Amino acid sequence: MQLVIATWYSGPSVATLFRLCPLFCMRFRNLTRRREIGANCYLLESGDQRVVLDSGMHPKLAGHAATPDFGPLPDHSANAIFITHAHHDHIGSLPLLQRQQEETPVLMTEVTGELSNAMLHNSVNVMTKQREEENIHEYPLFTHRELDGIRRNWIYRDIDRAFTVPDTEWEATMFDAGHILGSTGVLIREGSSTLFYTGDVNFEHQTICRAADFPTSGIDVLIMESTRGEHARPEGHSRKGEKERLASVIRDTHDAGGAVLIPVFALGKTQEVMMMLHELHEEGLVPECPIFMGGLSTKITVLYDHYASRSRRSYPGFRILEDIKMLTPRKRGRTELTANARCLYTLSSGMMTEHTASNQFAWKFLDNPRNAICFVGYTDPESPGYKIRTAKEGDMIKLARDLPPVPLRCRVESFDLSAHATREQLAEYAEKVKPKKILLVHGEEPAQNWFINRFRDTLPATEIIRPDTHQAVELW
Ligand SMILES: [Zn+2]
Ligand SMILES: [Zn+2]
Repeated sequence: MQLVIATWYSGPSVATLFRLCPLFCMRFRNLTRRREIGANCYLLESGDQRVVLDSGMHPKLAGHAATPDFGPLPDHSANAIFITHAHHDHIGSLPLLQRQQEETPVLMTEVTGELSNAMLHNSVNVMTKQREEENIHEYPLFTHRELDGIRRNWIYRDIDRAFTVPDTEWEATMFDAGHILGSTGVLIREGSSTLFYTGDVNFEHQTICRAADFPTSGIDVLIMESTRGEHARPEGHSRKGEKERLASVIRDTHDAGGAVLIPVFALGKTQEVMMMLHELHEEGLVPECPIFMGGLSTKITVLYDHYASRSRRSYPGFRILEDIKMLTPRKRGRTELTANARCLYTLSSGMMTEHTASNQFAWKFLDNPRNAICFVGYTDPESPGYKIRTAKEGDMIKLARDLPPVPLRCRVESFDLSAHATREQLAEYAEKVKPKKILLVHGEEPAQNWFINRFRDTLPATEIIRPDTHQAVELW
C-alpha cells in the first residue's frame, strides 16, 4: 500500500506543499534597529518564501550601527530584494545584504538601479575619507570592486507591470511614488491577499517628478511611510507660493549685490531646484545669473538627463545640463568655490553636514549681510544646517570641528518644498484604501502618534501597528 501511494504521488514537492499550507501566514519583520527614519529594511516571510523591502543605511550613525539588523534573515534564504528608490536610507546597506544573499535577485526600476550605482560608489569614497579623518576602522563597509560584482543580480522592472517574484507564488507590481526619479511603491499579492509598501511617496507634482500614481483599492495591508506626521502644513501653503517667495529672495539678494546659497541633497532636490530656477527665470521672476552645482549633484544630474525621455516625469526630453543656460560648468581641478556677487550656488549636502561642499562654502559666506541662504528641505536638529536655520543674527556658528566659528550676518530663509507627502495627504490616501491593517514605518514616534490618533476616528475598523525591531507581525 505504501508503495502504491509513493508511485501515485507525483504532485507538488514537499516545499511547495509547505508554501500552499494555510497554516503558514504572511509575516512582516522590521529589520531596522529602532523605530525611526534610518536604515530602512523590512522582511516579508511566508513558509519558506522571503522578500526583503529596501536595505538602507542610517544617515546619522557610523559603522555597523548605521546598518539594519539582518538577524532574523538566514543567509542565502531570500527569494528577492526590492529597492524602492536610490536614497541612502533605502540602499546604503544593499552591498552588505547582497553579501549574505549572494544569488538573490534585486528588483527595481532601471532609473533606481543606475542612480543606486552612482550613490553607492560615492558612499565608498565618503566612507574611505571618514576612515582617514574620523578613524572609523571598519570603513569602507564595501568596495568599488564589490559594487561592480553585485550588479549582475540587479534586475530592472517597469512600473505598472505585474511579474512573478522569482521562485515564489507571489506576484508583484511597482507603482510610481513621485518622490524622486525612479521611485516606486511595491504591491505584493499572495493568493487573494495583497499588501502595498509605499516607500517614500509624494502625492503632489514637483517640478520634475509627477505625483504618485498609486493603487487605491484591493489592498489588505498598507505599509506606509510616516515622515511628516509631526508637521501640519500651514494654512494657505502651496508649492507655487513657496516658489514665488524663493524668487523674491533671489531678486532681493541680486539687487543688493549678494550671492544665494541653496543647500540641497545631491539626488532629487538638486534637480528639482535646478528645474524650478529655470522655470522662474523663464517666467521673468529670477534675473539672469550664473548657477553653480556641486560634484556628486552633477553626476546624478547626468542620469536625470539620460532618462529625460524614458521616465514618467514632467518636461520629458529636457536636459538640465544642456538646456539650462545659466548653469555654469565648474573648471576642472578647481576644488574650492568662492561666493561671487549675483551668483547662485546649489551645493550638497542639504543639511550642510561637515566636510560637504555647502558646509565648506558657508564658512566664507555667512558673515556677509548681502548674502542669503535658502533652505529647501529637511535639516536634522543636530546638523549645521539646523543650527543656522534656528540661529539669530549675530550668533556665532561653528560649522565644523576644524573651522573657527563665524558670525551669522546673512539672510536665512526656509521653504517647504518637501519631496514627501504631507501627513494629511498620506492619511487621506490610507482612508481611501481602507486596509485591514496599516503598518507605520519610516517615521519618528510623535509622527506615528499623529496617524494613530487620526485613524482612531477615520479608520476605526483598521488595525494600526508600529512594528518594533524584529517583532513578527502577522499580515494574513
Ligand atoms: Zn527618499
Ligand atoms: Zn527615506
